[in-house]
Amino acid sequence: MKLAGGLVLLLTLATSASASPRFAPHAYVPIEPTNVAAADVPRVLWLNRCAGGCTVRPGPNSARAHTSTIPEGGASEYTIAEWQYGDAEWQKLVTCVQEVYSPYDVRVTDVKPLETYNEAIVAGSPNQIGRAGIGGIAPAGCDPYNDVISFSFANIYGGDIFEICATVAQETGHAYGMDHEYEYLDGRSACTDPMTYRQDCGGQQFFRNEFARCGEFAARDCYCGNSTQNSHLILSTRLGPGTPITAPPIVAYTSPAAGSSVTSATKIIATASAQRGIKRVELWINGYKWSEVPGIEWGPDGQPASAYQLTIPNEVPDGVLDLQVIAKDDIDVATATAVVRVTKGGVHHRRHLPARPALRRRGPVPVGSADRRVRRRLHLRAVLQERAVHRHRRREDLHEQLRSGVGGELPGGLRLPPAPAGRGGLLPGRRDQRLLQHQQRRGGPDRAARRRARDRAAPPPSACVVVSSRRCVARPSSSLPRWLS
Ligand SMILES: [Zn+2]
Repeated sequence: MKLAGGLVLLLTLATSASASPRFAPHAYVPIEPTNVAAADVPRVLWLNRCAGGCTVRPGPNSARAHTSTIPEGGASEYTIAEWQYGDAEWQKLVTCVQEVYSPYDVRVTDVKPLETYNEAIVAGSPNQIGRAGIGGIAPAGCDPYNDVISFSFANIYGGDIFEICATVAQETGHAYGMDHEYEYLDGRSACTDPMTYRQDCGGQQFFRNEFARCGEFAARDCYCGNSTQNSHLILSTRLGPGTPITAPPIVAYTSPAAGSSVTSATKIIATASAQRGIKRVELWINGYKWSEVPGIEWGPDGQPASAYQLTIPNEVPDGVLDLQVIAKDDIDVATATAVVRVTKGGVHHRRHLPARPALRRRGPVPVGSADRRVRRRLHLRAVLQERAVHRHRRREDLHEQLRSGVGGELPGGLRLPPAPAGRGGLLPGRRDQRLLQHQQRRGGPDRAARRRARDRAAPPPSACVVVSSRRCVARPSSSLPRWLS
């Protein structure tokens, strides 16, 4: 359904207020959007606890003028009772809302701002503005509003800070132009996002970086023309990015112990939890991500801490493995365990692997920081080859000098022995002899040239980690985590 300008639609749940004392559904009051340009979206959110009671008059929506289209009943002025849970609880509420909005460029304050702001009244009860059966209400449209008041009727929530915090997030979220969310695209409940009515999980709710179908008590198309809504993406776009102040994930490595031998069947176990919830837990081996598992489901108090099991993929070669478990929340804030060194395979394989899965590229080397080490290796090889050619030429020159009677002397005072007859002055060194023997064994120098030509014709895909000369394993696509310094 598309919103019509001026239409006032109120969604209420007649029986829900009595169904659960904590549950007072939020109402959705779309009114004509004012089409605020992104640059004008207010970057300050004022949480007003209505100390001593605050008054709102009917009129066009304006936080400055303290007028609103939302109160009903024809009175000329409405008085909302102050926050009733005291200073300590108020501070918890302010902190919670600040945490919820911290990934975005908006300042959440309980001091009346001087600059342009949206206001959230966090106090009173719905009957004080002539309404009933709602826990909060806000102007809502498809564009963010500037200078509007949203209402979160804190005093009906019995002091449940997370529930009040989620109501404030939802009502202020409406004022930033967001719809209700019903379920994520894989069918999970959107109960972890404050833009939902759903109550099938609890804990602190955050705007999630997940696409959700809109709806209150069933999925429906979103009001503003899209089939889905991603609240984190919308706020990141409309407000710009901020700095998350939520605690990073906590992760503790359990087993196997350092120094032990592992196989592909060995489970790597770690315990993880996060304030925003664990989105996924990853297993990194020798600096590369090799496997991951998703975070567990939410319960009535949010997502509990849990043990996570990870497997070592079969493709990981035998050798010394440096294991690291990395836990990430839904906005990719990550925490890593210390490195645990184990050995995969028998004792005869006890060699240390390179810092990452063997990275052998052939053909043109693409430009990019990940290839710096490869480029350096190629450069070193070129330098060594150049030096070998130089030594070879110098030796030839010395032989020429010996033959012509000038005499040759190597650095360090060593005299070069006379050249064997019939070799044109070339004295193969031990390295040259080994190379010749090797080439003869492998089918002659032409074979190496043929292989180089073949590799030039068909370079391996750039996203490949070649773990042996014949096998190519797709490199995991993740980038380095932020916490690496
Ligand atoms: Zn709502």
